[in-house]
Parts: sequence; structure tokens; C-alpha cells
Amino acid sequence: MSEQKEAVTVVGAGLVGSLLAMYLARRGYSVEVLERRPDMRREVIDAGRSINLAISTRGLHALRQVGLEAEALKHAIPMRGRMIHSARGELVYQPYGKDDSQHINSLSRAWLNKFLMTEAERTGCVRIRFKQRVSHVDFTSGALTVHDDATGETRREEGRVLFGTDGSGSAVRQELDRVQGFTASQETLGHGYKELTIPAGPGGTFQMEKYALHIWPRGTYMLIALPNEDGSFTCTLFLPWKGPVSFESLDTPARLEAFFGEQFPDAKALIPDLVDAFFSRPTGSMVTVKCAPWHVGGQALVLGDAAHAIVPFFGQGMNCGFEDCAVLDQLLGLGRHSRWEDIFADFQHLRKTNADAIADMAVENFIEMRDSTGSPRFLLEKAVEKVLLNAFPGEFVSRYTLVSFSRVPYRLAYEVGAIASGIVSELSEGLTRAEDVDLARAGKLIRERLMPFMKEHADGFRTEG
Ligand SMILES: Cc1cc2nc3c(=O)[nH]c(=O)nc-3n(C[C@H](O)[C@H](O)[C@H](O)COP(=O)(O)OP(=O)(O)OC[C@H]3O[C@@H](n4cnc5c(N)ncnc54)[C@H](O)[C@@H]3O)c2cc1C
Repeated sequence: MSEQKEAVTVVGAGLVGSLLAMYLARRGYSVEVLERRPDMRREVIDAGRSINLAISTRGLHALRQVGLEAEALKHAIPMRGRMIHSARGELVYQPYGKDDSQHINSLSRAWLNKFLMTEAERTGCVRIRFKQRVSHVDFTSGALTVHDDATGETRREEGRVLFGTDGSGSAVRQELDRVQGFTASQETLGHGYKELTIPAGPGGTFQMEKYALHIWPRGTYMLIALPNEDGSFTCTLFLPWKGPVSFESLDTPARLEAFFGEQFPDAKALIPDLVDAFFSRPTGSMVTVKCAPWHVGGQALVLGDAAHAIVPFFGQGMNCGFEDCAVLDQLLGLGRHSRWEDIFADFQHLRKTNADAIADMAVENFIEMRDSTGSPRFLLEKAVEKVLLNAFPGEFVSRYTLVSFSRVPYRLAYEVGAIASGIVSELSEGLTRAEDVDLARAGKLIRERLMPFMKEHADGFRTEG
């Protein structure tokens, strides 16, 4: 812990706000967190959005910095690869990395959020106030308008340095819209999502492979499933809002059952309450938010989804938000600047291009997951990629491994990933088995195309996992 510093306000005690509060407390700030929902540790609430999520190297690194990684991993299930389900129920397994040590982890969102809130409060410097909805920020005085959902009263709060971690629909970001020079774009995907559950088998057993992320890729739509600690799986069905196969068209139990029977027969057999769940649970929407600047002088900064919401297809939204916290903390630790304005400007400089890159990669990954993961060509290329990762350690890299298993800046992962996939694609031409890949030619292509790029950006590629 550092010496006691000023009081600051964090808006939103979601995943990013709770972790940020902890980081700030450890730097000596006294942190008040305003959260619009009730305390989920005391009241059962629908935390909205995915019941579990995938945490990988970037998120784990951010937890490690505040001593929380080990406890989080105790509750996580490693997912070492994708299990692809065909419409006939055949299974193909594809490892994520060069070996099992490279895996992503399925973790309960609610457990993680509660854990982070409790750990933040345990620092003694964080006070989380629930049912407190921020509705207006006056950037001239810094004052906040807060609606207390418990009493129904609205009050003004003193101006303090403000951190907006209030998620993709951020009220703080909307207030930034009034500041001159601020620009924001919001692109909603033409798809929505619905959560379904595969319950545990007898005695809490897993009814499908436990250590995998399951995917049923079907072109314009797909189903995925992540394992939970209790033996169940949370499935997410991604479907277009409108069109021949869409949330709009699946409007009766008979149509829904026929659709699942045809497209996801093995999953259908494992979801006993399919019809009830589908028609009673809400349909979620997904948005990409890009905005700038992320701060108003030294008064306010947005982080996490509030600054850069992304679609969930790379499993990186939270990971990216956690990385925000670690990067801001690093800047505070460097002590290069004493003014918040300069710290916020450095933060935006370091993070904005990377947030934009993962936003674009997440959309591209959606197309890859729903269209390609089941195709023989995709499977061959992934197998070739694995051969190259093992044959050229430290020289060949792939976009997926850099995003999920390293802290190499997203922008570099994006750029080098494009070069790497071009090489894989070329080497896979005319090949039927990955083992037959021409390693001499591979080495030449890697030396000619990948190595110069990596050498030029050596600092970024030195970042450890
Ligand atoms: C279907 C789905 C699956 C996903 N899977 C993954 C995954 O596998 N891996 C991954 O890394 N990411 C995943 N994500 C993304 C991840 O959920 C988000 O990136 C993450 O939740 C962002 O955290 P946050 O704290 O910034 O925002 P949020 O989690 O949205 O938290 C915002 C908080 O602010 C509060 N709040 C909002 N408005 C106000 C207000 N006006 N006043 C006070 N409080 C307010 C909210 O109640 C909430 O508690 C997924 C997202 C979706 C939709």
C-alpha cells in the first residue's frame, strides 16, 4: 500500500470497476464506487449478460498484480481447445495452442464480480454504494447527479476525479458527448444472443467434454457452450435478429424444436427445458463502441466497456478491460506525471489503438467462428499452424495465440497475425495432411516475412505472458 492520497469516484462496480477500485486503493486513493444495481452478494439479481466467461493471459496477469490470480484459477475450468460439433453430431477437436499449457479458462461471471467487490472492500479504502445510479456529470464543476434507487432521491455529489467503468451503455460516456471534440460510434451486430443451459449429469458429471469450448458453427448462426464448475454448461445461441433463420422466425415451440432437431441434435438432447428457456429468457444484443477522447482533462476517464465495448467472439472484452486497469496502474507506478490530465493522456495513447484492434479482431473472429470453424480447409490450416508453432518456437506466432496467451499489444497481434495467416494459407495450398507441410519453405517464409516485422517491433514482442 502507498501513502494516503485524495478521494476518487468510480462509476460502476462491474468487473472492471471493482478491479480498478482495488488497484487505486493499493496506490493509496480513497475510492467511492457508485453502482446502480443492488449488492449481488446479498440479493439475487440477474447480472445480465453471459453467466460464464473466458479469462486468458491478459486478464489473469491483471489479477496476478493484485494477488488474486491463484484464487480465481481455483474456480476456473481450463478449456484447452475447441470441440466442433457438426450437424450430424460428429465431433472434431482442435487444440487452442501449441500444447495444453496454452488454454483459456471458463469462470463464473457472478462469482468473479462478487470476489472482486469483496477483495476491493477488504483493502479498507474502497466503499461500494449500491442502488446509486449516476445520471449526469457536470464536467465544468466535476459534480455528479446521482439517483438513489433505494430512497428515490436525487442528489448532487462533490466534484472528484472520476473513473467511468459503467459498461457499454455508459452514462459517463454519454455525458462526454457534450464535450467539444468528442466523437463516438456504436455499431450493433445484426445478431442477438440467448442463453440456454445443459444441466449436469448424474452426480455432477459433465455431459460433454469438460475441458473444451464447444462450438456448433452453422454459417449465419452458431451455438457455443462453456463448462461451469457444477457440471453444467452455459450455451449461447447467436442468431440474426431477422431473416429466414432468426429470433424473429423462431416464433413457436414447434419451429424452435424442429430447428434444434435439424441443426443441433446432440445439444437438443441435452437441453431438457429448451422451449421454456428460449421463450422466457431475454435476448441480448451486442455492440462495438469506439470513442475518443477517453478523458476530459484530468477530471474524468472512461475504461473497460464504457470506453471500448466489443462483440464477444474473441473472449476478450473483460480481458481487455482488466488490462486497462493494469496499464493505468503501471502509469501511476512510474510516477512520470503528477497531473491526472497527463496520466490520462498517456493511458489513452497506450490503449486506444489496441482497443480498436481487438474490436476489429472480435468482429472478424465472429465470421471465422460461425462460417469457417467446421470447414476442412479451416481445420487443416489450424493444424498447420500448430505444426509451425511447435517447429519454430519464438519465430512463428499466430494471432489467436498472441491475443489469448500473451500480452503483446493487440495492435501488433492484429498486424503480425495477418502475416502469419498468409504464410499458413500459402503452405496449406494443395496439402491434405498438416504433417506433410514443407518445413524448409515454412522457415524461409517466416524469415522473410514474419521475422523482420517482429524485429522492428521487438519491444512489443518482448512482453511476457
Ligand atoms: C455474451 C457475452 C459473452 C462475453 N464473454 C466474454 C468472455 O468470454 N471473455 C471476456 O473477456 N469478455 C467477455 N464478454 C465481455 C465482458 O462481459 C465485458 O467486456 C465486461 O463485462 C466489461 O466489464 P465492465 O466492468 O467494463 O462493464 P460491465 O460488466 O457492464 O459493468 C458495468 C457496471 O456499471 C454499472 N452501471 C451502469 N450504468 C451505471 C450508472 N449510470 N450508474 C452507476 N452504475 C452503473 C452496471 O450495473 C455494472 O455493474 C462477453 C460479453 C457478452 C455480452
